[in-house]
Amino acid sequence: MALNNTIYQSPVFQQACTQFDLAADILGLDAGLRERTKRPRRCVVVSMPVRMDDGRIEIFEGYRVQHNLSTGPAKGGIRFHHDVSLGEVAALAMWMSWKCSLAGLPYGGAKGGVVVDPRLLSANELERLSRRYMQEILPFIGPNVDIPAPDVGTNEQVMGWMVDTYSNHKGHFDPGVITGKPIALGGSLGRREATGEGVAWFVKSYLQDLGIEPENTTVAIQGFGNVGSEAGHALYHWGAEIIAISDYTGGVHNPKGLDLKAAQAWIAEHKTLQGFPGGEPITNEQLLELPCTVLIPAALERVITDQNAAKLKCRILAEGANGPVTNKADAILAERADIEVIPDVLCNSGGVIVSYFEWLQNQQNYYWSKNEVFDKLYRMLAKAKASVEETKKKYGCSRRTAALVLGISRVAEAKAKRGLFP
Ligand code: GLU
Repeated sequence: MALNNTIYQSPVFQQACTQFDLAADILGLDAGLRERTKRPRRCVVVSMPVRMDDGRIEIFEGYRVQHNLSTGPAKGGIRFHHDVSLGEVAALAMWMSWKCSLAGLPYGGAKGGVVVDPRLLSANELERLSRRYMQEILPFIGPNVDIPAPDVGTNEQVMGWMVDTYSNHKGHFDPGVITGKPIALGGSLGRREATGEGVAWFVKSYLQDLGIEPENTTVAIQGFGNVGSEAGHALYHWGAEIIAISDYTGGVHNPKGLDLKAAQAWIAEHKTLQGFPGGEPITNEQLLELPCTVLIPAALERVITDQNAAKLKCRILAEGANGPVTNKADAILAERADIEVIPDVLCNSGGVIVSYFEWLQNQQNYYWSKNEVFDKLYRMLAKAKASVEETKKKYGCSRRTAALVLGISRVAEAKAKRGLFP
C-alpha cells in the first residue's frame, strides 16, 4: 500500500525502517504484524504561538510521536532543534520502542520535537515555549500514558517548567509525568550523568573483552553536550586519554590528551568550544576520521555515511547519539572486522533506564541513593549486553541487528498476544 505521508520520505525515518526490516526478516514476522509493529501509532502536530520579548507573536511548530503503546506508557525525550522534522521525530520514537524493549523496561516508545534553535531564545522566551508545548501535548501524555524527558536542546530546567505546567493543569503536583527533572522536583540522583555513564560502561566492558587497558585507550568524542561530556569524564577518570572533542562550532584535537575540566570551564565562560586553546582546531568531519581506540558520535543522526565509513580508524564505535550511522555506512562497517559497533539502542540506553528509575521513585515517593541508582543501572546494562551478544551469535548478524531483533521481538509478541481491538 502506498504511504502518502511525509514521514515516509524522511531519510532518517527510512533509515529506521530499513533497520527494522532487516531484523523483521530474521524474525520472520508475517506481513500484518510486521506493518503493525513498524508504523507509528500516533503523530501529533501542534502550532504554538509564543509572545517574544519584543512583543511580537511567533508561531513555533512541535511534534509528539507515539510509536508504540502496546507494552506500557510511551517513553522518550523532547528535542529542541532548528532541523527537527516529523519524520526525524518518528524515527527517534521508533528507536525508543526498541531501546525500552531491549532494556526490559515496561514502556512503549515516543519522541517529541520543536522546530527552534533554543540558543536564539531568551530564558523567558524558552520558558514560554516549553510551557506552551506542554500545554498543547497535555491531552496525549501522563504518567501512565506517555512520559517525556530531555533530549538534544532541552535540559532539567525545561523539564521543570513542563512538570509545573502539567501539575497546574491537574491541580496537584504530579512528577511522574516527566523524567530528567531537577532533583528539587523529584528528579533522580544520577539521571543527568546516566546516558554518558552508560556509554562509558559499555566502552569499558567491550574494551575489557578485547583486552585493551585504560592507559592504551584514546577517545574521540563528537558532541560535548550532556551525553558526550559525561561519557568523556567517566572515561577520563577511568584512565583513558580524551584526544578530541567537538560541538556544533567545530572541534579541538590534542594527541597527548585534552584537559576536560579546562574545556568545561571554557564552555561555561564562552558558551561554545570555539577558541579553546587546549589543542589544534579540527572540523567535526575530521574528528570522525582520527586514529583512536574509541570513537563516540554523541551529537546528531547520520554523521557516519558511505563517504567516511571506510575511513574510520577506531577499534570501537560507541553510538552515544541516536541513529549516527546511515544504512549504507552500516553495510560498510559490517565488512570491517576491525571495528566493534555498539549500537545506539544498546549504547545510550542508560538515560532511559535511569528515567525509568526516576519514574519508579516518583510513583513510590521513596528516593534512592546515587549508588543504588548506578548499581541497578550497571546490572541492567550488563543483562542487555549479554542478551545482545547471545542473539548476535545465534543469528550470525551484526550487533545492531541483534539488538533490534530483541527489541522488536518483544514488542511484536506483545502486539500479537493482545490481539486486535476493535
Ligand atoms: N532522550 C533520551 C534518549 O534518546 C532519553 C529518553 C528518556 O529518558 O525517556 O534515549
